[in-house]
Amino acid sequence: MLARFGAISLLLTLAVGLVLSSVLSSAISERAREQAEWTVIVTVRLGLQPQLTPEDLANGFDAERLAGVERAIKAAAGNLQAGGRQLDDLDPVELTIYNRDRTIVYSGEHESIGTTSTSEELDAVLNGEVVSGFSSSAGDGEGSENGTRQLLEVYVPIQYEGSDSPDGAMELYLPYAPVAAAVSADVRTLTITLVVGLAVFYGVLFRFIASASRRLQRQTEELRTSAERDRHQATHDALTGLPNWELMRDRLGQGLAAASRSEGEIAFLLIDLDRFKEINDSLGHSYGDKLLCQVGPRLRSVLRDGDTVARLGGDEFAVLLPSVDGVDEAKAVAERLREALHRPFDVDGVALDVEASVGIVLSPWHGTDTEELLRNADIAMYVAKELKAGAVVFEPDQHVTAPWRLTVLGDLRRALEGTDELFLNYQPKYTLDGERIEGVEALLRWQHPTGGLIPPDEFIPVAEGTGIILRLTERVLGLALAQMRHWLDAGHAVPVAVNLSTRCLLDVDLPELVLRLLAEHRVPAELLRLEVTESAVMGDAARCMEVLQRLHDLGVRLSIDDFGTGYSSMAYLRRLPVDELKIDRSFVLGMTTTEQDAVLVRTAIDLGHNLGLTVVAEGVEGAEHVLALRALGCDIAQGYHYARPMLGEALSELLDRVGTIHDPEGTVRAGA
Ligand code: C2E
Ligand code: MG
Ligand code: MG
Repeated sequence: MLARFGAISLLLTLAVGLVLSSVLSSAISERAREQAEWTVIVTVRLGLQPQLTPEDLANGFDAERLAGVERAIKAAAGNLQAGGRQLDDLDPVELTIYNRDRTIVYSGEHESIGTTSTSEELDAVLNGEVVSGFSSSAGDGEGSENGTRQLLEVYVPIQYEGSDSPDGAMELYLPYAPVAAAVSADVRTLTITLVVGLAVFYGVLFRFIASASRRLQRQTEELRTSAERDRHQATHDALTGLPNWELMRDRLGQGLAAASRSEGEIAFLLIDLDRFKEINDSLGHSYGDKLLCQVGPRLRSVLRDGDTVARLGGDEFAVLLPSVDGVDEAKAVAERLREALHRPFDVDGVALDVEASVGIVLSPWHGTDTEELLRNADIAMYVAKELKAGAVVFEPDQHVTAPWRLTVLGDLRRALEGTDELFLNYQPKYTLDGERIEGVEALLRWQHPTGGLIPPDEFIPVAEGTGIILRLTERVLGLALAQMRHWLDAGHAVPVAVNLSTRCLLDVDLPELVLRLLAEHRVPAELLRLEVTESAVMGDAARCMEVLQRLHDLGVRLSIDDFGTGYSSMAYLRRLPVDELKIDRSFVLGMTTTEQDAVLVRTAIDLGHNLGLTVVAEGVEGAEHVLALRALGCDIAQGYHYARPMLGEALSELLDRVGTIHDPEGTVRAGA
């Protein structure tokens, strides 16, 4: 582009130079002509006219007078200058003097004296005008071209005092060569100045434009790289740098389109590491992360250039073979991938053995769209895991006999991409003394397009086995915080509890996610509660402790959910940064009929209080439970006796009607 600009601007500069030089040089030669003409007028008026008398004009000269006049003419001519130069070669001066009757009184060529001229110029001069023009005469020497000399011919009127009109006229020929030489010298100087000036102008302009263009190019480059970076982040896994599901789905779609055009086959392999959780649990997540980073290159090493390796989340990877020759080739690749993973990994000097289960699907045989292929690959992978069979090719029979949990993952992934299938219900928690709303718990619901309303117990445990649970939790947090913002705007600062699964507590990025979402929805951290199950925390306490502590430091309040179902020890509970303990509903339901449950509930309440925690009873279904819990000093109750989980709008109405214990005094409506 710069080169094109350089060429165009050079041409323009040259054109401007040419126009300028032609305009200026014609101006120069015109000025030189005028100057020469003026010189002749002055010479005639001051040098020659005073030598003549009116009688000379009327009667002509005798021989003696003629000689005198010729001398005077020579002397005057010696002073003639043209173009700033002395005119030495004006010899003989070609001079003709006319009287009023057009008769030649004097001429350099003596024989024409006495003759009469009829030229038009003479008419004009005898009317008082000065007339000039170019003419040429035969001759040689300086300034002659092809044997002719260019002459400037000037007619000047002669008028004596007392006359009304010119008494005669003088015609004088001036050699134009010296004037032309002076003009061309001036034009040369002008041209050189113009060329140098324009060259400097062009150079400065070009430098300026070149540097501006370079700056522009740099900025464009920066913009492009930052856009590329953003695009890369959106389509790649942050930990391993491998393509993520977004990109994989894209490539899978392209592969499917290309295969259907060429009537070829493509294979999609879903890979899940078998012993990853053990490694993570025993060595810590930093080892786990480093191991995951090494998996991608291992897988790549046995694949072809056009194949894609992606990390779908957690320890789940996927490989796309955009062109395969039948099931056997896909199986052979799967075996190569498994062998590549079997070689021990060296993570910070520790040799780690990893095994993998692979689910294989081929299009068009096992599906012709991305969702169907992914779901069937999930099923094949699950079968491979269950049967410890290594790599398994999907078979339609597996689908028929496959339990619900095998198809759930694919459906859940799809549900997460939309916005209308997953939503929250909210169940209020009541204070046992005044029976007023203290807070609410957010409970996830899934409206499956064909399967109807699915309770969380049926899909959350399946999602917990994969990275999907992290995306699910992010969705639930987002929905709950948006609802909290809505309630805050309506004047209800009501605490909302969100359930977290074990897998989330192993995710060190969780505190950042919570912080980001709180800020995004402008909700104070104190209003958010996170419920974690007792067994989750007790099972992997050290690892969870770090995440829990960071969440607690943000100001988020933490609850131990389903208390009584795990194997917690007092020592653990004391070390956990929790604020609340929720007694599992199975014990609460049984407390009025089973002595054992009654003992457990009483012990839990005492334990909670001794640790300074708020104690909540879940599953409060009857008035007898309320009485018993109140007698034991339990703080809060949640259950069908008070309210079932309901939609956000229904809870909004309830809040508007009865308020919460957090509302300022006096705003509580009747009926609480
Ligand atoms: P949870 O956290 O213990 O939730 C309380 C469950 O008890 C809810 O079941 C609620 O509907 C039910 N419940 C409330 N009052 C009564 C009652 O008086 N009697 C009886 N029998 N049940 C009552 P739900 O909504 O089916 O949730 C079941 C479990 O699913 C939850 O147990 C929680 O562990 C899990 N869950 C729900 N939503 C989420 C979520 O967003 N994320 C995660 N990770 N887990 C969730
Ligand atoms: Mg809960
Ligand atoms: Mg519970």
